[in-house]
Amino acid sequence: MSLDKKGKTFVISGPSGVGKSTVLKALFEGRGDLYFSVSATTRKPRPGEVNGVNYWFLDDQQFTDKEEAGDFLETATVHGLARYGTPLKPVQEHLAEGVPTILEIDLQGARRVKQRAKELGLEVVYVFIAPPSFDELVRRLKGRGTETPEEVAKRLETAHVELSAENEFDVTIVNDDVDKAAEDLWRVIASEYGITE
Ligand code: ADP
Ligand code: 5GP
Repeated sequence: MSLDKKGKTFVISGPSGVGKSTVLKALFEGRGDLYFSVSATTRKPRPGEVNGVNYWFLDDQQFTDKEEAGDFLETATVHGLARYGTPLKPVQEHLAEGVPTILEIDLQGARRVKQRAKELGLEVVYVFIAPPSFDELVRRLKGRGTETPEEVAKRLETAHVELSAENEFDVTIVNDDVDKAAEDLWRVIASEYGITE
């Protein structure tokens, strides 16, 4: 595909357990010419997660050092449990090459990107991934089985806040079917790049 030289940033947010990672995995399996911004986090890796692929796993001090050095585009403490941040340099490098750049970040991070977009010269499209229903969100979050009941409760608490912020986003994609949601997301990216297939 032919790309404008200056790339666009796509912020993907939505409540924990809605299927953001699953949809993005499906999108990336189908498309090579996108960049997924690998965040840094202080949370512990889940089974199967790989440093530098899913996240950069840092301890609290390492995270603080990077934050103080201005290495992050945005940071947030999510669910009151761990710190997360988007490394700025790789985002800027990919955008300079015109590559569509995907940030999978929480609502606080999305708001922070909005505050900084102008200063950093970013063109951003904000995409909200919504569940078909709240009950289905609960089922998915519990079904994933990667959090303790306390962590699930915390995430559901945050989910209420995130769901009520849907109107701050440019586009909503309902994740009822993974492949359809991935295709919908691709359509959003393609339309921003003027790609018709
Ligand atoms: P998030 O990244 O938003 O926290 P995940 O991608 O980890 O969410 O998905 C949470 C759970 O929901 C996983 O077990 C995943 O397999 C499941 N899931 C994701 N999308 C769907 C869908 N469209 N239908 C049914 N289950 C889904
Ligand atoms: P998880 O721990 O389940 O991988 O992610 C928890 C939450 O943190 C998700 O809502 C995810 O979008 C968010 N998140 C992941 N990386 C970042 C980041 O770099 N910045 C912000 N603000 N949130 C992030």
